[in-house]
Amino acid sequence: MSKRDYYEILEVERTASKDEIKTAYRKLAFKFHPDRNQDDPDAEAKFKEAAEAYEVLGNEEKRRTYDRFGHEGMNGNGFNGFSSNEDIFGAFSDIFGEVFGFASGGRGANRPRAGSDLRYNLEISFREAAKGTEVGIKIPVEESCESCGGSGAAPGSSPQICPQCGGSGAVQQSQGFFRISVTCPQCRGAGQMITDPCDECMGRGSVIRDKDLNVRIPAGVDNNSRLRLRGEGEAGFNGGPPGDLYVVIRVTPDETFERQGQNLILSREISMIEASLGHRLEVPTLDDPVNLDIPAGTQSGEVFRLRGLGLPHLGSAHNGDLLVEVRVKTPTHLNSRQEELLREFAEIEKSKLSNRAKGFFKKAKKKVMGE
Ligand SMILES: [Zn+2]
Ligand SMILES: [Zn+2]
Repeated sequence: MSKRDYYEILEVERTASKDEIKTAYRKLAFKFHPDRNQDDPDAEAKFKEAAEAYEVLGNEEKRRTYDRFGHEGMNGNGFNGFSSNEDIFGAFSDIFGEVFGFASGGRGANRPRAGSDLRYNLEISFREAAKGTEVGIKIPVEESCESCGGSGAAPGSSPQICPQCGGSGAVQQSQGFFRISVTCPQCRGAGQMITDPCDECMGRGSVIRDKDLNVRIPAGVDNNSRLRLRGEGEAGFNGGPPGDLYVVIRVTPDETFERQGQNLILSREISMIEASLGHRLEVPTLDDPVNLDIPAGTQSGEVFRLRGLGLPHLGSAHNGDLLVEVRVKTPTHLNSRQEELLREFAEIEKSKLSNRAKGFFKKAKKKVMGE
């Protein structure tokens, strides 16, 4: 039986470009795919025929040989066509991956892949968070092994193509009518196997090293803030971009200040006398202490606001406030003289109240009498 011309099979011109040939084959592979043509024995033959044509025309060297010598030229060049559909899926898994969503974990293992993001928990003091700081950290990163250049094979040796999957990293399994591509169990999708592993990395191709990094903490960061350091995560694979490093900040609480957003809150006790007569209170801040004048007649629980003495808003020159809550302390352990004075104080307070009441009564009476 004479073989059909490969260009004819793929329905392309003899001058077709590589991409045109690939597109033509993809179309035919889809059309005659065994999963879609289970009742048509002709389809399978056409599927194989197209694969064979593409195997030759899709490869520049084989195509040149074919152009010069035709089918005769292909014999004895290690090319025998495909014996099974499995071979076809394996050989062109890039095409079937695109068209049918196969080959996950197959060739995919060798595709560029972005590195993972890493997380680092960093504990800083309250003051460091308030003022901003720079912290040196060490992060473990996976780096390509220098000794073997990342191949995992001992220097001087090289990885062998996996005999089970022929290097594609995927093998086909039939389940009833369905044919699925699974990761090759022998090489775990790598497509190759290391027979003589590198001593440095034990054949992994990568080693874990501590990397020194300086992390600049901006003033005003809060507990659980996340800083993103672009590209400082795990290295990418096969030329993929590296991941990011997320530094999660834990701020240890302060003994003096409580934080509420960008405001600082502080509680101070003053005596009943100081609250009554007014008082100058020295108040700690993030910098030097400042004086706060408490006016006469201040009630317990009153809050005084010191503007701009709180924490900086991230990325702005504007600061939060310092809020000072005043608690009035009732005197205890009075001696007899103090008690006497307070009783006297109480008497005066009582007469003040009754005078005020009388005054009010008098005025009211005058109005009623029309005086
Ligand atoms: Zn190595
Ligand atoms: Zn394999």
